[in-house]
Amino acid sequence: MTHHQPLSYLQPQPRGPWDDYLEQIDRVTPHLGSLARWVETLKRPKRILIVDVPIERDDGSIAHFEGYRVQHNTSRGPGKGGVRFHQDVTLSEVMALSAWMTVKNAAVNVPYGGAKGGIRVDPKQLSQAELQRMTRRYTSEINIIIGPTKDIPAPDVNTNEQVMAWMMDTYSMNEGSTATGVVTGKPISLGGSLGRQEATGRGVFVLGCEAAVRTGLDPARLRVAIQGLGNVGGVAARLFAQSGAIVVAIQDHEATICNPAGIDVPALLAHARRHGSVAGFTGAESLANRAEFWEVDCDLLIPAALEQQITEVNAGKIRASIVLEGANGPTTPAADDILAARGILVVPDVIANAGGVTVSYFEWVQDFSSFFWSEDEINQRLTRILTDAFGAVWQLAAERKVSLRTAAFIVGCTRVLQAREMRGLYP
Ligand code: NAD
Repeated sequence: MTHHQPLSYLQPQPRGPWDDYLEQIDRVTPHLGSLARWVETLKRPKRILIVDVPIERDDGSIAHFEGYRVQHNTSRGPGKGGVRFHQDVTLSEVMALSAWMTVKNAAVNVPYGGAKGGIRVDPKQLSQAELQRMTRRYTSEINIIIGPTKDIPAPDVNTNEQVMAWMMDTYSMNEGSTATGVVTGKPISLGGSLGRQEATGRGVFVLGCEAAVRTGLDPARLRVAIQGLGNVGGVAARLFAQSGAIVVAIQDHEATICNPAGIDVPALLAHARRHGSVAGFTGAESLANRAEFWEVDCDLLIPAALEQQITEVNAGKIRASIVLEGANGPTTPAADDILAARGILVVPDVIANAGGVTVSYFEWVQDFSSFFWSEDEINQRLTRILTDAFGAVWQLAAERKVSLRTAAFIVGCTRVLQAREMRGLYP
């Protein structure tokens, strides 16, 4: 018999990512001028759908999982944001992730609102067949609010192009026609875009080099530490290593490894693909104490796993000059203050990891026009959008004497609230 957990969204919650997001909004509000009148709209998700996702396990038992899809804001266009499968997914987390999508999409000026989804499940405990049944049931449950012009999911932690293919197929079966534009991050053979799979990591790499140049560091000699070796961290590690930088430490869900002379990244990626983790890799020292990862001597520290990783506990010990947020929400507001006081530059998530949604936008445009672009074209357009957005945020931060995060939030929130004001309230 399957043991069922109580519903997490009815339990008292500790301070969560949504609280961090609200604090970020409070910090940007004084910079919004007359638009501050509308700021409450950013503190209230437009629509929250909580669904029960029951599946029959391979052994014949029935398991139930909590599923979420939150549409935080659609003032500038349809909802857009990933779907996460993780055992620690909570409503607070999905709300925050959806809100950061709103700010991000506006900060890089892609014509979307913000949304996010998730299932509270450890997918490593499921067979492929169970994973497919769960994905399809979840998609059917949220079918009523998603669609190519309504809300377009994409991959996030523990979801990939296979999961997107199942979601696209399930939605299409329910609609009675093939709708490739309902999700992005699909396989190339199903209307996916060249360059999408590596777009987030590529964007992290591009902006890491840009931030290095602006702070007087040589991008070809950077020492980089990365938490998370998945779609974001793994691609970033490969691109940094290819450019001459050295990767000195990696932490994943199982282990922390460190080599001040530089880790052989292709060998590590091959090891992680075979074993599911960096644990046991012989080309580096293993650190038994996970907390020591944050104290590694490096230039660029890239959290690329989960939120609330850099906190008031470890922010004072970080030795990097730049924190580049590959993950969403990895730094708490209290940690932001400590890093700022120590002169450590934080390149915020809403710009740093926006490469993924930017190429998702390209994918969606290509699906609508049924005309597909070359990889060079995609990478060039991606680089231009990200470096322009970063440049604008950098300049605004200097003018207003605020952090890059506050500057990125000023740009993003202004665009969202201007759209809100122009549209007016219905009825
Ligand atoms: P992924 O599932 O491909 O990889 C996640 C990685 O994080 C894995 O290497 C895993 O081992 C590691 N990890 C998990 N728990 C950990 C822990 N407690 N400590 C250390 N490492 C841990 O996920 P991803 O798509 O690379 O996403 C990573 C982050 O980037 C998330 O915050 C996600 O929201 C964000 N992000 C992803 C995309 C995208 O296109 N996939 C786009 C923008 C932002």
